[in-house]
Amino acid sequence: MQQHDVLIIGTGAAGLSLALKLADNANIAVLSKGALTEGATLYAQGGVSAVLGEQGSQDSVDSHINDTVTAGAGLCNRDVVRFVVEGAHASVSWLINQGVSFTLNDNPNNMARFHLNQEGGHSHRRIIHAADSTGKAIETTLESRARAHPNIHIFEHHIAIDLITSQKLGLTGNTCFGAYVLDINSNQIKTFSVRKVVIATGGVGKVYLYTSNPDSCTGDGIAMAWRAGCRIANMEFIQFHPTCLYHPQAKSFLISEALRGEGAKLILPNGERFMQHYDKNAELAPRDIVARAIDHEMKRAGLPCVYLDISHQSKSFIARHFPTINNRCQQLGIELSKEPVPVVPAAHYTCGGIMIDPHGRTDIDGLYAIGEASCSGLHGANRMASNSLLECLVFAHAACEDIQQTLATSPVPHALPKWDASRVTDSDEEVVVSHNWDELRRFMWDYVGIVRTTKRLQRAKNRIQLLKSEITDYYGHFRISKDLLELRNIAVIAELIIESALNRKESIGLHYSNDYPKTNTTSYQNTILKKP
Ligand SMILES: Cc1cc2nc3c(=O)[nH]c(=O)nc-3n(C[C@H](O)[C@H](O)[C@H](O)COP(=O)(O)OP(=O)(O)OC[C@H]3O[C@@H](n4cnc5c(N)ncnc54)[C@H](O)[C@@H]3O)c2cc1C
Repeated sequence: MQQHDVLIIGTGAAGLSLALKLADNANIAVLSKGALTEGATLYAQGGVSAVLGEQGSQDSVDSHINDTVTAGAGLCNRDVVRFVVEGAHASVSWLINQGVSFTLNDNPNNMARFHLNQEGGHSHRRIIHAADSTGKAIETTLESRARAHPNIHIFEHHIAIDLITSQKLGLTGNTCFGAYVLDINSNQIKTFSVRKVVIATGGVGKVYLYTSNPDSCTGDGIAMAWRAGCRIANMEFIQFHPTCLYHPQAKSFLISEALRGEGAKLILPNGERFMQHYDKNAELAPRDIVARAIDHEMKRAGLPCVYLDISHQSKSFIARHFPTINNRCQQLGIELSKEPVPVVPAAHYTCGGIMIDPHGRTDIDGLYAIGEASCSGLHGANRMASNSLLECLVFAHAACEDIQQTLATSPVPHALPKWDASRVTDSDEEVVVSHNWDELRRFMWDYVGIVRTTKRLQRAKNRIQLLKSEITDYYGHFRISKDLLELRNIAVIAELIIESALNRKESIGLHYSNDYPKTNTTSYQNTILKKP
């Protein structure tokens, strides 16, 4: 039995920030299901949005709030937006103190210390960044700090299976006491008994066939919280990035919208452009419009992908402006100055998640959720670029304050029952797991993707019910593995997305239904699901 003060499930920006903030006063266990740095944070390119009060800037907190609320299409919680935006300055300062090297301003006419970028939806330059790999700079800095801290106990290649709650143990009340965790290398199941549990497991992109997310994004934390009885909100709002590289050897690689900014055109296999039929700004239309247009063209003509053509630019221009993308394409034999690159839209960001209050608390005592796994009210129906890392940092701080105030009075770690594996055997049909993974991700892409209809959602609902019963049966009979646990979780996530999408009888933000193309401006409701 592992006994600690706090168990943090997840080691991205959210989990590691919280661990470091708590560690001087508490004994912390952190889990990552792969290597410690592997998660969405590592791949974040753009940066962190923050009004830093830099000299010469016309930006303001109110402007950042208004931009966020506009992007969220009326569904943001304005108090939460203010709370997060006001917390940005302190969060960025904390990162700098940890040692993150943000790109400095090298323009002698500009008085600001840091170079700030501007991204879609932001009315000012306010994205602090570390070149084009901000996430890597943050993640690796936090990693080295965490590895050096004597109170942080790191469990890599450990996958949390389920939470241990009073309800599960047949006790009164509604408290979380710990979690069962599979040590992937030794195949042993460990019991963690703690005073507080924090879910920081990131998003759900892997539930779709195409995603910009790394393999870890299977929504485990959201699925665990759902099984334990937490409310889950706004799961229909999945953000799709319009252009992810489509190549058998290139998993989850984004082709930045900056290429379209430099004149790249979206074309069909016959070389015809199509974006001009969808928006007056053609290729420079907002992300969700471009993603919907590509999706429409792919479905209309049964295409596996469309193409992005920047061949009007010279080889040297492309190499200078897009070094990372150029290198990756060249590795795959694609010469951008000569030929178009195949692209598909891809699931990118999960706006919904475990409902939390401004302290990161969930519906269960002692259980917190922070980062992309949570639904704080910040994003509403659509996330504004670079607000997500900020949310991780601000809520890590908020949860830290609450945990520090309440840790001493929380129940001491219990002697919890061991995991019971007496009724399961080794599987003789692993093929069921891999087949169901593929089937689920494909029908989620085809039926619950960028443009939805009630008929397709119903079709997906029937499929998921069948799959879920098959998975439950398999789970009850065979020894668990990482693949099986993740499959069980993406099935829950798929069901939550389908159910939320069916509940929303309008098109708003990231949810678009052909059957309900208008927004219902009189209601502006969140979709909240609770297990019966
Ligand atoms: C390609 C890409 C580019 C992006 N660019 C930006 C950007 O520029 N700016 C911005 O603000 N946002 C960006 N985002 C979004 C942002 O990166 C994420 O929202 C953020 O990093 C999420 O951080 P997190 O800590 O919540 O989760 P993650 O960083 O995904 O970490 C999740 C952690 O949970 C662990 N975990 C998951 N399940 C389990 C389990 N069952 N047991 C144990 N451990 C588990 C994982 O191993 C991992 O350590 C981008 C995302 C992607 C994919």
